[in-house]
Amino acid sequence: MASGKIKPRLGLVLPAYNEQEVLPTTLSKLHDIKRDLIKDKLISANSFILVVDDGSSDETWHIIQEQELIHVELVGVKLSRNCGHQSALLAGMTEAVKLADIIITLDADLQDSPDVIKNMIMKYNEGNEIVYGVRSSRTEDTWFKRNTALAFYKIAALLGVKMVPNHADFRLMSCVAVKELLKMPERNVFLRAMVPLVGYRSAKVFYERHERQAGTSKYPLKKMLSFAIDGITSFSVEPIRILFGIGAFILGVAGIEIIYTLFAKMLGNAEAGWSSLMISIWLLGGINLTAISVVGVYIGKIFTEVKHRPLFHIEAETGTYLKSKQAS
Ligand code: UDP
Ligand code: MG
Repeated sequence: MASGKIKPRLGLVLPAYNEQEVLPTTLSKLHDIKRDLIKDKLISANSFILVVDDGSSDETWHIIQEQELIHVELVGVKLSRNCGHQSALLAGMTEAVKLADIIITLDADLQDSPDVIKNMIMKYNEGNEIVYGVRSSRTEDTWFKRNTALAFYKIAALLGVKMVPNHADFRLMSCVAVKELLKMPERNVFLRAMVPLVGYRSAKVFYERHERQAGTSKYPLKKMLSFAIDGITSFSVEPIRILFGIGAFILGVAGIEIIYTLFAKMLGNAEAGWSSLMISIWLLGGINLTAISVVGVYIGKIFTEVKHRPLFHIEAETGTYLKSKQAS
């Protein structure tokens, strides 16, 4: 729980994949920020930085090992292969939660402005278990990236996926919230939609996202698109319902078509073969689509069941006196 008196141990968690060009700069900047926060008595002196090497093939792991000799409060975690940004973040949180009270995840390329870390901690001290870093503008993005991101958040919201728009994975979470998050055993990890499902009181801090300080993006367009599609399909079975709606609509049209063509036939206005052709096309199309989507609805249920997501997260409990009496 947030407390103004007890200084929380902060764990800064960074996923890094082939980040040799930028990692030394990032670490030195974060060490400075951490030192200032300790000086300001906002965090405990036992705070640390944890870098997850996500199966890099460059010198990233060497840099972590070297830096650990200089800064003892640096923790390195090396994954055996490249598991992807989201899994690397989860790996980092799983390890950091053992040592920290609050965790802040941020990219290794200094795009997530570390200057707002202080604001995040202040929001935590106000009683928020989760603090989302939100980009205040997207003017520095290309036209394509800005508009695809806008479309993505709009479509996701329409399909019922709850996300904080313009928030990526720069966020503070208390270990209480992280432990609840880690109860979600799913394989398709899309943290920015999973974290809001955890609940708890949350807040936002706004920041300007900088240019990548060095190195190149590890998220090419193809990876980004599949990430977006994964994000929506892992959290919504709404597309199946839409399919069902379209199927039902086509069946309705088929009904009208049947009545119309039968009348036309009776009045002798129909071309030979036209009525039977039209009726079968619309009727079979409608039946096909509805049948597929009925199967889809069941698959959707299997899909949500196999996730084994917890149905609830308990935030607080009372009745300790009764419980201790019954336990004794
Ligand atoms: N990253 C990772 N594993 C991957 C891809 C990326 O750990 O497979 C890390 C990367 O090192 C960086 C963060 O995820 O710290 C965000 O990646 P990047 O900066 O390349 O994405 P962009 O900002 O271009 O969307
Ligand atoms: Mg980046």
